[in-house]
Formats: sequence, structure tokens, C-alpha cells
Amino acid sequence: MQNRLQVNSALERLGTETAFEVLARAEALAAEGKDVINLGIGQPDFKTPPHVVEAAMKALRDGAHGYTPAAGIPALRQSVSEDLFKRHNANVDPSQILITPGAKPIMYFAITIMGEPGTEIMYPNPGFPIYESMIEYTGAKAVPIELKEDAGFAFDADTVLAQVNENTRLIIINSPANPTGGVVPKATLDKLVEGLEKFPNLVILSDEIYSQMLYDGEIHVSLLDYESIRDRLIVIDGWSKTYAMTGWRLGYGVWPTTLFDYAERLAVNSYSCPNAASQHAGIAALTGPQDQVGEMLEAFDTRRKAVVEGLNQIPNITCVMPKGAFYAFPNISATRLNARELQQGLLEEAGVALVAGTSFGALGEGYLRVSYANSLENVEESIRRIAKYLS
Ligand code: PMP
Repeated sequence: MQNRLQVNSALERLGTETAFEVLARAEALAAEGKDVINLGIGQPDFKTPPHVVEAAMKALRDGAHGYTPAAGIPALRQSVSEDLFKRHNANVDPSQILITPGAKPIMYFAITIMGEPGTEIMYPNPGFPIYESMIEYTGAKAVPIELKEDAGFAFDADTVLAQVNENTRLIIINSPANPTGGVVPKATLDKLVEGLEKFPNLVILSDEIYSQMLYDGEIHVSLLDYESIRDRLIVIDGWSKTYAMTGWRLGYGVWPTTLFDYAERLAVNSYSCPNAASQHAGIAALTGPQDQVGEMLEAFDTRRKAVVEGLNQIPNITCVMPKGAFYAFPNISATRLNARELQQGLLEEAGVALVAGTSFGALGEGYLRVSYANSLENVEESIRRIAKYLS
């Protein structure tokens, strides 16, 4: 028998992202010849725009084969700065922009930099699972920001502010949100920011990876709009969702000058620099035609309506209309099945891959996450399968 090797005990507290397990199981079932529709993983089903692919191929042909600066190539950081000015009217110096392999390392870095035993970090629950996982890993206390269905999965600013104390180091906001599709109203953000002005040492991490995925004419409110917190604001955004580039691994963070060096140092200590060809593709995505961004959003909007309407017709399921991202978060509590059981049953017996709400935190019990980044036909077929399974 093999000895259990001694490892850093903090790893016992590290969580995971179940969507990848569901994806692996769905692919294994498909490899066995089973017909599985995947509404589990959060990635656009569109191809990366051809001019973006071409830019990467050209970069490789032209010899972009080496390491780049750890923070990313200057031309890309400049393009991000210009894009932020164009979209949010925000003045962000390229020196504050850290290009990363996907957006995820920004949350890893931010939470690692701010969290340690004796401190508190507030995070959305249900929310992207890596927030809670990383907070626990650092030994900080994970304090949930409760997102409620009857508030469109936004939070109440007063409730959040009442939980902030002198140990709170970091507060994480994600709008539009994974897994709920919720969007935090501007009035709530105004109130939150005003309240946070009384806690000048608290850092804010705003995950805006779905900033270009809003429906019904909603306009994205970036926390970059609030000058009073800019010196302690970290913003996450990137290419994965907007340009259908999840596999390219390219994202970025906007950092306060005082924290940038720590983040860059963590980059050098872990991956050295982002992929060179992807960075050239990133420039083309930001500076080239934006047609596909709008086309994709239109397709998601059609599916969003179909998925919500379809789910609401299934007995014991109700679903509020999400305002952003490409997720619906139906309430399944009346089925009397727990989220995990329903996830398993639907995958193994009905051929529909979805993710249990509990994969996004304890407050996700009673919900499933449906990613409608799949064809309208598949979305409609999965609704039929779910209805049949539950009847
Ligand atoms: N934040 C949120 C809220 C997400 O949903 C995701 C991806 N699922 C990410 C960050 C990470 O994006 P990336 O793939 O660029 O690392």
C-alpha cells in the first residue's frame, strides 16, 4: 500500500469547478455513443472570428515564437487601454493592465494577494466557484454575498455593507453573473460604492468577463466608472466569452498601481507570460470588426427567451428571465429533488448535461445552471428531455 504523501494542508480546502467534471462525463458518454446535449459548460458555441484566427497564424508565420514580457506585449496592453476608453470612457494606463492566460489567473492573483488567516473576503453566492475555493485556500474567511432570485439575483447594498468590517480585505462583485445571468442595477452599485468609501483599505474585485453580454437594451455599468474607488479596484475582463476564445487562454486584469507588481510577480513565478500567438489574436479581436460580437448576442437572446419560456412550461420548474451572460438559473425546488440528484439523473438518463446550483455555493441548492450557449435546436430538444424525465 502506498503512503499518503504529506502536502500543504491548505490544499485540503481548495475546491474545483464542477462544470469541467460534467463536461468530461458528457464527453465520455458521447464517446460511448450516447446522445448527450451539453448545456453544462460556459463557453460560446461559435467559432472565433476568422480575422482573429488569421492574426494568430500570421504571428506564428512571422516568428512570434518566443517569450513575451510577463505582463503581455505592449501593443496588446495599449489596445486594451484604448478599448476600455472606447467602451467605458475610462482612462486606464497600459502599465496597469496585466494580460493573463485566460481571465482566471486575475482572480487567483487578487485573492492570493489579499487573503490570509484573520482576514475576510466577501464573494457572491451562488457565484463562480473559484472565488470561494481560492478564499478558503488562502485561509481567509469566506463571507457570502447572498444573491436572491426575487431580486433578479442581485444583492442588497445595505446588507452587504452591514457585513463589511475592519478585517474585510476584498469584496468580489460579478455582473453580469455566472451562474445566474443576474445583473446588478446601477442604483445598487452607486449605493455600494458610496458605502465602501468609508472603508478606504478595502480592495474591490469586479469580474466583468460578461461585460458585453447584456440583453433588453441594458447597458453595462463598469466599476471603472467610479473614480472614488479606482485606486483600489481590480477589474477582470477578457476575450473568452466576447470573442468566443475560451481555448486560446487570454484575459486581462486592470490593477491599481500599488498592487500591479505583486500580480506581475505571481505571473513570473507561475507561467512566465501568456501565449504569444494568442496575444496577437487579441489585438485583432479588439481592433478589428466587431460584427460577430453583436451576432452572437442576438443568437443568445433568441435562445435565452426559448429556454426560459420552455422551462417555465415544465411543471415544478420556474425560471426568471436572466438579463446577461448566457446562463439561466431555474428553480427546481418544487421537484423535491436536490440539485445534484437532478444533475446526475438528467445527464445519465435523459442525455442533458447541466450543472447543479450547489456547484456555485451552498446557496445554489434548489437550482440548476443551464448554459444556453448551444444551438436553438439543442436547447429546445433539451427542454423536451427535461420535461419527459420529470414527468
Ligand atoms: N469569471 C467568470 C464569472 C467566468 O464565468 C469565467 C469563465 N467561466 C471566468 C471568469 C474565466 O474566464 P477565462 O476562461 O478567460 O479564464
